[in-house]
Amino acid sequence: MPGFKGLAVPGPSNMPFQVRQAMDVALEDHRAPDFPDFTLPLLADLKKVFQTETGQVFIFPGSGTGGWESAISNTLSSGDKVLASVFGQFSHLWVDLCQRFGLSVDVVEAAWGTGVPLDAYEARLAADKNHKIKAVLVCHNETATGVTSDVAGVRRILDNLGHPALLFVDGVSSIASIDFRMEEWGVDVAVSGSQKGFMLPTGLAIVGVSQKAIEAKKTSTLPKCFFDYEDMIKANAGGYFPYTPAVTLLRGLRASVDMLLGEGLGNVFARHHRLAEGVRKAVAAWNLQNCAQEPKWYSDTVTAVLVPQGFDANDVIQTAYHQFDLSLGAGLSQVAGKVFRIGHLGWMNELMILQALGGVEMAMHSVGVPFEPGAGVGAAVRHFSETRASDRIAAE
Ligand SMILES: *Cc1c(COP(=O)(O)O)cnc(C)c1O
Repeated sequence: MPGFKGLAVPGPSNMPFQVRQAMDVALEDHRAPDFPDFTLPLLADLKKVFQTETGQVFIFPGSGTGGWESAISNTLSSGDKVLASVFGQFSHLWVDLCQRFGLSVDVVEAAWGTGVPLDAYEARLAADKNHKIKAVLVCHNETATGVTSDVAGVRRILDNLGHPALLFVDGVSSIASIDFRMEEWGVDVAVSGSQKGFMLPTGLAIVGVSQKAIEAKKTSTLPKCFFDYEDMIKANAGGYFPYTPAVTLLRGLRASVDMLLGEGLGNVFARHHRLAEGVRKAVAAWNLQNCAQEPKWYSDTVTAVLVPQGFDANDVIQTAYHQFDLSLGAGLSQVAGKVFRIGHLGWMNELMILQALGGVEMAMHSVGVPFEPGAGVGAAVRHFSETRASDRIAAE
């Protein structure tokens, strides 16, 4: 079909023209004498995006999954105990990775549609008098269900108990879109990837690491090579990498970080919140349920919408794709067929949201989901008209 394809999945997200143009360059020498003039400021600016002062940010070729692996293999040893919770496909997969690395994972199962259960974490950590739990895992934004968890709350529990466990956060679909404060929340490893909030193609694992996590490497015996933090620290100190970096993607990352810092992180977060509210108003106007069970769990980067009993969410997704060139996110695992997901992160504005909502309405209408056509789009139009894009926090 002529015209733009709609991409409303929660990663890969839409790529800004500035980022595409920045990557339309000849391949370059990653050992050139002036390469550090490019890389050192980039690494420094990434720390601003992660909101860390004392930590370091590493860029590995890979994806978010590689970032998860780096957190585990650099800091822990076979048989180490970690505390984690599962409430969606991504929190599940990180646990699976830990188990494949021979860790002993204490898994708290929570309902899909809720997030990190603070009470259960507190109980487990309080009972762990001998500090056997070496790391606590938090999926900040569960992309499968559109749920955001309270990382600061987990930090408070650790601090109140004086528990020394490392705090690892999956921020793949939150960092650069939802407020994420690595320093303030005492996060030891913060994992992200290039194709979500950073608005790039897939291909980079972007990982924030605290000094405490770097220290933990001294006692860690799991094998590490490709994702070895120490090799990265040594090479990065001079502005280089331990092996060939994905230079073209780094050029794109420079453009993306410039866009994020230019808009101001506070404005980026406020924009995501406002757009997400428009989507949530649309869902309510369709008389459908958000998979996130309570407002405190609502995600500003992705909304998973439950289809009514008797309907298959995949029919909505297939119809949107085949008839209207719109990609929506599918339901994964436990929620397959029950939800479709609207991704609203990265390079997004009101009209792109209205396009996605319009596509959802056409697809739902086409498969017979009962709702008043225009109800959701209208609710979003009203929301966007009543709140102003300029209702923004002053750029910091
Ligand atoms: C996308 C995603 C991942 C996986 O990242 P890949 O880049 O696909 O390896 C992990 N966690 C969350 C929360 C995600 O959204």
